[in-house]
Amino acid sequence: MSQDLYELLGVSRDADADALKKAYRKLARQLHPDVNPDPESQERFKQVSAAYEVLSDPQKRAAYDRGGDPFAGGFGGGQGAGFSFSDIMDAFFGGQGGPGAGGRGPRSRQRRGQDALIRLEVDLAEAAFGVARELKVDTAVRCTTCDGDGTAPGSEPITCETCQGAGEVAHVQRSFLGEIRTLRPCAACRGYGSIIPDPCRDCAGDGRVRSRRTLTVKIPAGVDTGTRVQLSEQGEVGPGGGPAGDLYVEINVLPHPVFERHGNDLHCTVSVPMTAGALGTTITLPTLEADLELEESAEPVESSFQLPVPAGTQSGHQVVLRDRGVPGLRGGRGSLIVTIAVETPTKLDARQQELLRELATLRGEEQPTGDVRPAHKSVFGRLRDAFTH
Ligand code: ZN
Repeated sequence: MSQDLYELLGVSRDADADALKKAYRKLARQLHPDVNPDPESQERFKQVSAAYEVLSDPQKRAAYDRGGDPFAGGFGGGQGAGFSFSDIMDAFFGGQGGPGAGGRGPRSRQRRGQDALIRLEVDLAEAAFGVARELKVDTAVRCTTCDGDGTAPGSEPITCETCQGAGEVAHVQRSFLGEIRTLRPCAACRGYGSIIPDPCRDCAGDGRVRSRRTLTVKIPAGVDTGTRVQLSEQGEVGPGGGPAGDLYVEINVLPHPVFERHGNDLHCTVSVPMTAGALGTTITLPTLEADLELEESAEPVESSFQLPVPAGTQSGHQVVLRDRGVPGLRGGRGSLIVTIAVETPTKLDARQQELLRELATLRGEEQPTGDVRPAHKSVFGRLRDAFTH
């Protein structure tokens, strides 16, 4: 092997361990016999592997840099039998990929707790204007007996004898590349590097116990069904006294008897008698604010307002009232859209029929021919659109 080892790997002479590893990993992916079986690739794979074997060992690399023959002691010799691609990748990534893999030392007993999700039903006014709610949450809290350490009072964790506290043990595999050393989590201490000989009785060594907590959630104005309100570090605490996860409150807005919500707009339908539609009238509409339970200190809210219905209003007519809808989560406020339904009178007595016939005569409407139009231009089409909008 006369070629320069740095050139073989395609790195500069001052490349650090990371750069070497990266370069070799990239080449190994291209050239490994499992991936690329042609003889030329196999030969190059052996060469770059040998080069990496030398340059990744600080002593051998120093000797090579001084001009020594890195292969004088006899390198490899095997022809790669039984040495698979995944073994090489394991050598880089620490085998099972478990905690402590890759030489990161013992893992901490402390871990972050899991996030939690609870669902909360609110009514439409609460969703629109915001509300503070008390919630009871079943969750994991820090064990007060051991303060999260998991050790019985007065006792301490002891260093694991199997791994001497390293939390990992070396797994050595011989191959034509030389020894491939893989670090795996120590099975005796599960990678912690220490063992708790006397676990806390209250939490069985977990450092946390189940408990029911009460907390107050502030639901911001403008939430809708599916909105998730995040409460930082209100989820369950982690094992070993680790920090708490987050609590997410998912909102479900209950249907309202009057208003239907579409985005930030509110919709409602108001029925008026045919006579009122013809002559015009004023109707009283409730506001969504009327639903709010007023605290004594709060300013009085407008619980209703007057909506003029002009003479000659057709059934299906829509009135758009800006800024009477739902406040947006990011400011602004939607509209209230009122659809007027003009109702044809039923159950007419003789006198009423007489009056309507007289009216029809006066208006020349005794024999109406009907006004046939495409559906989408008709009053009914518009009305249907208003309802299914
Ligand atoms: Zn405990």
